[in-house]
Amino acid sequence: MASETPILLVALDVPLAKHFDFLCKDASSDDIGRLVVVPFSGKQVVGIAVGVAHSSEVPSEKLRAVDLVQRATPPLASDILALVRFCERYYHAPFGQIAINIVPPLLRIAARQLKPPRATKPRRKTATTASAAVAFTAPTLNTDQQMAFDAISGALGSYSAWLLEGITGSGKTEVYLHAIAATLARGQQALVLVPEINLTPQFMKHIVARFPAQVIVTQHSGMAAGARLVDWRLAESGAADIVVGTRLAIFTPMPKLGLIVVDEEHDASFKQQEGVRYSARDVAVFRASTIGCPIVLGSATPAIETLDNVTRGRFKRLALTQRAVAAATLPRVEFIHLDSEKAPDGLTATLLAAIDATIKRGEQAMVFINRRGYAPALVCAACGWMPECRRCSARMVFHRGINKLRCHHCGAETKPPKACADCHETTFHPAGQGTERIEAALREALPTARIARVDRDATRRKGSAAAIFDATSAGALDILVGTQMLAKGHDFPNITLVGVVNADGAVFSADFRAAERMAQQLMQVAGRAGRSALPGRVLVQTRHADHPVYQALQAHDYARFVSAALVERQLMQLPPFTYLALLRAEAKQADKVNQFMRDAQHAAQRLSQSHAQADAVRVWEPVASTLERKAGYTRRQLMLQSPRRTALQTLLTALIAELRVSDNRSVKWVIDVDPIDV
Ligand SMILES: [Zn+2]
Ligand SMILES: [Zn+2]
Repeated sequence: MASETPILLVALDVPLAKHFDFLCKDASSDDIGRLVVVPFSGKQVVGIAVGVAHSSEVPSEKLRAVDLVQRATPPLASDILALVRFCERYYHAPFGQIAINIVPPLLRIAARQLKPPRATKPRRKTATTASAAVAFTAPTLNTDQQMAFDAISGALGSYSAWLLEGITGSGKTEVYLHAIAATLARGQQALVLVPEINLTPQFMKHIVARFPAQVIVTQHSGMAAGARLVDWRLAESGAADIVVGTRLAIFTPMPKLGLIVVDEEHDASFKQQEGVRYSARDVAVFRASTIGCPIVLGSATPAIETLDNVTRGRFKRLALTQRAVAAATLPRVEFIHLDSEKAPDGLTATLLAAIDATIKRGEQAMVFINRRGYAPALVCAACGWMPECRRCSARMVFHRGINKLRCHHCGAETKPPKACADCHETTFHPAGQGTERIEAALREALPTARIARVDRDATRRKGSAAAIFDATSAGALDILVGTQMLAKGHDFPNITLVGVVNADGAVFSADFRAAERMAQQLMQVAGRAGRSALPGRVLVQTRHADHPVYQALQAHDYARFVSAALVERQLMQLPPFTYLALLRAEAKQADKVNQFMRDAQHAAQRLSQSHAQADAVRVWEPVASTLERKAGYTRRQLMLQSPRRTALQTLLTALIAELRVSDNRSVKWVIDVDPIDV
């Protein structure tokens, strides 16, 4: 009905695909994108204004007034709102849920307190310290780097998408830095996305050292709220020249954005795995295409989907084939066959001897094992019983340092049992190996070696990972033991030996992406060896040396692994040959989630059959998620698959509309488009 007072349309952080109407006497279209505070369900909540109207379907006596329109801060820029709209359409998440969560927390908090956010003094960037005084000469590019840079810099000013594929140590960073410099020279801003900021301190140092006079800001979830807001504003006002951040940084307002770089574009951390399940890499491609700037996706081991985009002509490939340090060569990869050699505590005598010889030469070694903790399970010596998490369908991992059992899925902790729950015997053995056990075994075998462990447990304290990497660079450590945290782009010229322990499990996982991820991680880890004039060596302990992942590793031929994987995926009709979406659901009671899934399956089948044959979407049977029970919830997933993305998206839209009107309050569900864990 018509209203004399203007009506503000507000999107809220609720799982509903609609906006809500509120009276606002001074509302205007300038308010679109502004934070607002409104009364909702008996509380004051923060929302985002998405429109102004002069009539509402809500009866006038039920319309309530806005408490506050936050006009002390700028509204979200229109290109950011367009990005949110894209995520709404593509990932099928409500506009409000996306938009509210990309805003720095302090802005939301200030709005809720009905006041403007307190102006914080701009932080002096660590960028401009003593080293800034030294005039810096950019290294000369080699032929490959020069060609890549010429292509990217020649494309500034309009949209283009580039895969910068360079073997580890080939100097991708140098190409980024040159391209950023060219962007800044045009008076524009550059955005660099990295997988995990605390693991890439060297990358930050490179940028800071190269651009001492520029304003460099960061955006990641580990920042203090005040600093995050200050940096957001510097980016939003155009004062920041370079923004470096993790996946959430893709939503940073940048009025003069002229270049996007996604480093290690294959990394799984670019996909948000909770809440709105977006891929920051894919959103970045969309952002570049709508504002009209180049995007550079860099990797030594590109995602198979990215390579497919090159094949289809959507992305152009730039290859760096030489290692940047002229004398550096690729490491020699050898296998230690576990069928013929024992590995007590996870390490063979051959690997131990090689590590010993390496550190005796004054060089450094690295041992990669993709499992943290001491042992993945404790086993009763008498009957084989193993303690499991009470809330998850998973074994408790033994952490010997703190003498606790810990669930790696819900975080639950208990003391190790005094006696077996089945047979009451009191002797337990650790089964299998984690980083902690490998570290202990190394300390016992090589008592004088200086060893550090790098995993989520050992680096929980802020700055501790950086301290370990600094100590490694300074030669104060002999051996690093760790998880895939070791695989990320660190450059340690003195590491000449890499040991790979217990990688077979992931190589043979049921998840079709696990082999791809392991291939990428192993290539990256192996790339840590021999980055200077010293020759490198990689020793892989395995029972399956003939597996394509290991063969590709040995030949330093990632493309060979990709070809083998593509043949398999075409046979199985998996991505990139089809498109996938998962409906994920969980409930405390198994029968509730089972019923929900059956209903959803039937709805999806009915909707699918109403399409033309060519557009058919295959609806699978609902199955238990990989981790069937997590934190007390029973979890199921339903896979939808189609050779045509539009057919899949159309079906999802219709299906979600049905699911939202059905009453299933006890079931939590979410749509995961392009899932990376299946
Ligand atoms: Zn027992
Ligand atoms: Zn648990």
